[in-house]
Amino acid sequence: MLIVPEREIANLMTRDVAFDAVEQVFAAMASDDAYNFPVVREAIGHEDALYGFKGGFDRAGLTLGLKAGGYWPHNLEKRGLINHQSTVFLFDPDTGMVKAMVGGNLLTALRTAAASSVSIKHLARKDAKVLGMIGAGHQATFQLRAALEQRTFDKVIGWNYHPEMLPNIEKVATEAGVPFEAVDLPGMRAADVIISITSAFGPSLMADHVSPGTHVACMGTDTKGKQEVEAALLARAAVFTDEVAQSVSIGEAQHAVAQGLIRDSDIAQLGAVINGSHPGRTSDDQITLFDGTGVGLQDLAVAAAVVDLAVAQGIAIEVDF
Ligand code: NAD
Repeated sequence: MLIVPEREIANLMTRDVAFDAVEQVFAAMASDDAYNFPVVREAIGHEDALYGFKGGFDRAGLTLGLKAGGYWPHNLEKRGLINHQSTVFLFDPDTGMVKAMVGGNLLTALRTAAASSVSIKHLARKDAKVLGMIGAGHQATFQLRAALEQRTFDKVIGWNYHPEMLPNIEKVATEAGVPFEAVDLPGMRAADVIISITSAFGPSLMADHVSPGTHVACMGTDTKGKQEVEAALLARAAVFTDEVAQSVSIGEAQHAVAQGLIRDSDIAQLGAVINGSHPGRTSDDQITLFDGTGVGLQDLAVAAAVVDLAVAQGIAIEVDF
């Protein structure tokens, strides 16, 4: 068995490799070559932790496995550890033997940022210039860094519920040489692409805060009850997702579907656009919306890629098992 520890991931993994791995596995999902297993998520009654598994099998890439982990809310204050903890396990699909154990914390941020980037590549207008950010927490910095590589943006505008956190994303924009401006939510009308990545349980971005032709990537809603944008926005938009079953149950679309504003059948897989079996954006005025819920296959894809890099660079630790 190969081990790639968390401490090695930052030196091994690149945004480009994560992007390619996620784009490929979204395409495989849409052509039924890859599927996700039902998600298990349990409040374990210890340390207030939420623990679970996200797994799947990619027949095209021959990647089988799961990400195990969750959220330990007291880690930071009690132990100086980060609250989100996860590990990816890969198995040999021919034999069922365990192949690799890979640190999953940084990979989760990279694969989530890659997902919105893939959506921008395939759904945003080519001439998009202004990037809007809603959210300024841990994931937001990764999202912004990756998104800036997808179009020639000449400005980043940002809003956050906790304005004191905005310097987190301003720093990323400045490092990339792109000016940053804090705006109020109606100010998002100036954006050509908007990424929302918050842990909110109620909408911040309203339907009339979004101009025609904008691409919106909703990345924060990954649990029942969470919500970042007004449900009416989904009714105004062409809606895409990583996986429809997750989108309507734990993703942003859960609210629009529950309110009868859209149906499951109105939501397309982003992978179908990548495959060319769905046209994607059909006009410059259309609002496109990607509901990125986060699927296990994304974790497996980036973990498999990082194992290959670790082997090539002689960094993977091999143990008899
Ligand atoms: P974080 O705690 O670092 O940041 C949370 C962000 O949400 C901050 O910007 C905060 O100001 C904002 N926020 C908090 N309460 C709010 C409210 N009531 N209204 C509006 N904004 C509010 O969290 P993070 O690690 O950046 O994660 C952000 C979200 O992304 C979480 O919901 C997390 O579960 C989700 N996530 C999704 C995926 C995926 O694949 N889709 C992957 C990882 C994390």
